[in-house]
Amino acid sequence: MTATVGRDSGVAARATDVWKVYGTGEAQVTALRGVSAEFERGRFSAIMGPSGSGKSTLMHCLAGLDTVTRGTIQIGDTTVTGLGDSGLTKLRRDKVGFIFQQFNLLPTLTARENILLPLSIAGRRPDRDWYDTVITTVGLGDRLGHRPSQLSGGQQQRVACARALVARPEVIFADEPTGNLDSRSGADVLNFLRNSVAEHGQTIVMVTHDPVAASYADRVVFLADGQIVSELVEPTPETVLDTMKKLDGLAGAAA
Ligand code: ADP
Repeated sequence: MTATVGRDSGVAARATDVWKVYGTGEAQVTALRGVSAEFERGRFSAIMGPSGSGKSTLMHCLAGLDTVTRGTIQIGDTTVTGLGDSGLTKLRRDKVGFIFQQFNLLPTLTARENILLPLSIAGRRPDRDWYDTVITTVGLGDRLGHRPSQLSGGQQQRVACARALVARPEVIFADEPTGNLDSRSGADVLNFLRNSVAEHGQTIVMVTHDPVAASYADRVVFLADGQIVSELVEPTPETVLDTMKKLDGLAGAAA
């Protein structure tokens, strides 16, 4: 059993009947069509689906990086939809962590300074024990004084993971976190994310199109054409691939 260490059980992020329409008139694109999904606390969830199915849009709406056209988003006990600019800034600062495909580290800061930056911006002191735990697990050893350009891609992404984890946010959203990494560095990052869920009760929602990456999650939600069409619990690369093939088959049949 995976314990939800130090966290209440319940839902960390919830979308209820979310619609997202971009543009107007002929240029209008409906990216999400009535998506309802819950992401439980202390679990590692993946969002999968073909290119253009709405994965990034759903993640951006969940994280308060984009607005919804209709429907409701909640992070913990906060209703994100309806928050003004200052409420959204506070939410992103205090409740949400991000890991991006392109690492998004500040080039002039060392690894250590990058990791501590969100806390210093929020005016919070790091919990010393937790910081040490994160640094030990991230396995950067003597590289903490290095700048991003002096680190490999895998090391940079581990710095980005540590930066997200050190603030202990309600949810970490990871957007294709292994998209720029070779398979070995990708596996390191995915193991690190999985351990932070299993051992420390962190909640992670990851967007990916890679069945192997998705198999590290506890649960996979599949999107197609802006709707949730399937779900797998305790996925393996094979069951994820099978589900993707079936969805491709359905899309092919409908075309
Ligand atoms: P995925 O992440 O699964 O590849 P996206 O969420 O990026 O899918 O996109 C879903 C749909 O919304 C696509 O048809 C895409 O072209 C469209 N879309 C995404 N962002 C925008 C935008 N800013 N303006 C217009 N259309 C967009």
